[in-house]
Amino acid sequence: MTPIVIAGGGLAGAAAACDLAQHGQPVRVIERNLGPVHKICGDFLSAEAQHYLRRLGLDAAGLGVHPISRVRVAQGAHLVQAALPFTAIGLSRRVLDEALLTHAAALGAEVQRGVALASLTPDITCLATGKHDLRGSAREPHNIPEELVGFKTYLRLAPDQIAALRGHVEVILFRRGYAGLQLVECEQANLCLLIHRDHLAQVGGTWAALLAALCLEAPHLARRLRDAVELLEKPITIARVPYGFIHRPQRDERVFRLGDQACVIPSFTGDGMSMALHSAALAVRSLRAGQSAFEYHQLLAHDVTGPIRRAWTLYRLGRAGPGRAVLIHALRLWPGLLSQTAALTRVARRNWVEDSH
Ligand SMILES: Cc1cc2nc3c(=O)[nH]c(=O)nc-3n(C[C@H](O)[C@H](O)[C@H](O)COP(=O)(O)OP(=O)(O)OC[C@H]3O[C@@H](n4cnc5c(N)ncnc54)[C@H](O)[C@@H]3O)c2cc1C
Repeated sequence: MTPIVIAGGGLAGAAAACDLAQHGQPVRVIERNLGPVHKICGDFLSAEAQHYLRRLGLDAAGLGVHPISRVRVAQGAHLVQAALPFTAIGLSRRVLDEALLTHAAALGAEVQRGVALASLTPDITCLATGKHDLRGSAREPHNIPEELVGFKTYLRLAPDQIAALRGHVEVILFRRGYAGLQLVECEQANLCLLIHRDHLAQVGGTWAALLAALCLEAPHLARRLRDAVELLEKPITIARVPYGFIHRPQRDERVFRLGDQACVIPSFTGDGMSMALHSAALAVRSLRAGQSAFEYHQLLAHDVTGPIRRAWTLYRLGRAGPGRAVLIHALRLWPGLLSQTAALTRVARRNWVEDSH
């Protein structure tokens, strides 16, 4: 049998490789990174993401995850908290992605590392190269709705702040952006934030100036970062993420796009990884059933359009000053709204792909 070639060995690509290999299908994954790397991500794995990892036989718990059962939203002096509708886990992408790619190889996939594809070639069936376009495969419709810049770093917080953060994911709202803070393995804190580039320029344009400005605006963040030590030499950054993008397939579509190549949900939902894993599972099911790439993309759009639209609406509400105030007020009156929001921005349980055998 000719191997199915997957471009990109991140979460989506590695998951599809595991699934195909488990079914005895020869598969080759081409990944540009030679070894484990840090990736920009909040490292929040929802119940759905955990379901898909279990389904592939990956024991995430064995990787030293941090369990998360509550969410807090902070804006200025206001703080709202609620239980999550599921227990999430915090695990760094450096550990997770490497574990999944190693798992794919152990299951029999051929993993080619250190090869950066310059363009889409005819032998590629699955395109899983993440947020940015590969030459010859620009995404349609190509909308970059906002000029947001993303930053991520790991921190060793002061002991009392580790204790306060344990078991929680925190979303900190500020002018023209927001941050996520949570613990991952070894009780390192992941600080991941998005900020409008104009605002970044206004506060001085550097990471140090940005952190100082955010701590002035957000007392909650200032408290958490007191005496914290940054663990990365410099933060990882990203720009031009096409939030809200859902691939519109053509009837003669040849390539199965996976993960962020197929759809991109606003990151505050912490559901991008589960959508990437969901897309991989759906694509493998479609490939095995002899369905076309067009049919697969229609199935995927059916599952993700509602959550992505709802997440996008919430994001727009939360980014403007008056909308943010209304949102915080509503959350304070009705903390259950937080759990409901978390549920509404996810692929419905009934659409999860179950057992792979
Ligand atoms: C700021 C931010 C915070 C986020 N936080 C969360 C969160 O907390 N929880 C969550 O669930 N989701 C989160 N997400 C979303 C999540 O990170 C993505 O949805 C997810 O990584 C998509 O997986 P993927 O496999 O499609 O892409 P990736 O994980 O980006 O993998 C793509 C792979 O392709 C490889 N590649 C790229 N180009 C080439 C090439 N030319 N040749 C060979 N290989 C190539 C890359 O090296 C990479 O390994 C966040 C996103 C952002 C931007």
